[in-house]
Amino acid sequence: MLIDYIWSMNIESKLGDIGTNIFSVMSGMARKYDAINLAQGFPNFDAPEALKALVRHYIDSGFNQYAPMLGIASLREAIAHKVDRLYQRKIRIDTEICITSGASEAIFTAILALVPKGSEVIVIEPCYDSYEPSIRLAGAKAISYALEGPDFEIDWQRLSDCISDKTSMIIVNTPHNPTGKILKPSDLEQLDTLTRNTSITILSDEVYEHLVFDGKKHLSLVGHDSLFERTIAVFSFGKTFHCTGWKVGYCIAPEAIMQEFIKVHQFNVFCVPHFIQHALADYLLQTGSYDGLSTFYQEKRDVFQDIMKKSRFKALQTEGSFFQIYDYSAISNQSDMEFSTWLTQTHGVACIPVSAFYQEAPDDRYVRFCFAKTEDTLRLAGNRLQEI
Ligand code: PMP
Ligand code: GLN
Repeated sequence: MLIDYIWSMNIESKLGDIGTNIFSVMSGMARKYDAINLAQGFPNFDAPEALKALVRHYIDSGFNQYAPMLGIASLREAIAHKVDRLYQRKIRIDTEICITSGASEAIFTAILALVPKGSEVIVIEPCYDSYEPSIRLAGAKAISYALEGPDFEIDWQRLSDCISDKTSMIIVNTPHNPTGKILKPSDLEQLDTLTRNTSITILSDEVYEHLVFDGKKHLSLVGHDSLFERTIAVFSFGKTFHCTGWKVGYCIAPEAIMQEFIKVHQFNVFCVPHFIQHALADYLLQTGSYDGLSTFYQEKRDVFQDIMKKSRFKALQTEGSFFQIYDYSAISNQSDMEFSTWLTQTHGVACIPVSAFYQEAPDDRYVRFCFAKTEDTLRLAGNRLQEI
């Protein structure tokens, strides 16, 4: 039978003004123009052989059905051991930890669970692109506090001006994407003073916890007695073990916060791949599985920085993460999106325009390069960038 009418559905978009995210756009452009992808943040080298062997082993051993909703006990125990070792806190594995589908699910679930409709969440921009859409989907409003380059320091007085009686959450990210800045002890103290005796929760995005350079130390909010009372901290195995495509992470929070988190998590993903959890549990307990990562990535930063010294790009300081921001104002006055497109298409190196990390971006000339790449790739890209 012929359909003699066209029925067009009227879908009311919940994120009407939001298009495809910048990481997909720039990776797509890199593929199309066969450019070296220093845009999206992922390693171009493989996960450790020993970890992949464990994954194969646990698939073959039949761990292919649902895992427990919070994650398997041995993985939660291994994480608790790491948290005690690194941040001197004893986490209760039955009530204070949950294995998630990457840090992304932890962030989304935490916002849905903890941010009341009509409330406000303070985001420190530039910030990771999922925070603001998640806040909107929770029916709340993102209040942006914009940092300024080149040092991107937090001015806590200005941040406190953003707090109102509607503030339900503050989101922090250390080491920071895209600036590579880390929070200092004084930042934690200021955040504590601002939020103590309030009902504001803190979402602490610590996915780059193991990537801190120049002998500096990652300060986890989990390790701060007072801040931890109102914090949910999120982590990612993708960043730690070079397996971003597996999408496994976890979050840690005191019981009262975790109870609310789990109510949403159980209907969001319920659980994450069983065999990967077993592999991670074994691998985490192996000596050195995460200890050398800062040195490993610092060497990559330094290789890239050295080559880039001979270019007209100017490096901003990076203290951690996969990323470094470069100022290209000596090369071009184009907007950062135009410049990133031109660089990808004409010079075969893809990067991310820093304006993509703001709701209302300043008119700066900054792009972000990801140095989580092999030395060969960094040298090849660096040589192309030197010629500009
Ligand atoms: N937060 C930040 C700051 C990130 O850079 C990323 C990277 N993708 C995520 C969260 C999400 O991590 P995952 O891939 O584990 O979901
Ligand atoms: N975190 C990665 C980045 O900042 C990308 C994650 C994604 O592609 N959604 O580049």
